[in-house]
Amino acid sequence: MIKVCEHCSNVNYTELKALVEEDQFSIKCIGHCEGHDGKSFGFIDGELVIVESPEAFTAAAREKLHLATLESRS
Ligand SMILES: [Zn+2]
Repeated sequence: MIKVCEHCSNVNYTELKALVEEDQFSIKCIGHCEGHDGKSFGFIDGELVIVESPEAFTAAAREKLHLATLESRS
């Protein structure tokens, strides 16, 4: 389950949405939107993940949801 804020998460929504089923993707304010200027953040399986970039967030989501491909592991 991925939860991100549509306004403040600074993530690649298109990439994230492609990672999971539609009902596993929630896009609304998550209540952690202050104090993360320039960071990318959101909940991945209930855990708040804060990273430096949209790319890093997508990578973290893949990792946590065990979607890492052979390509990205190498
Ligand atoms: Zn927000």
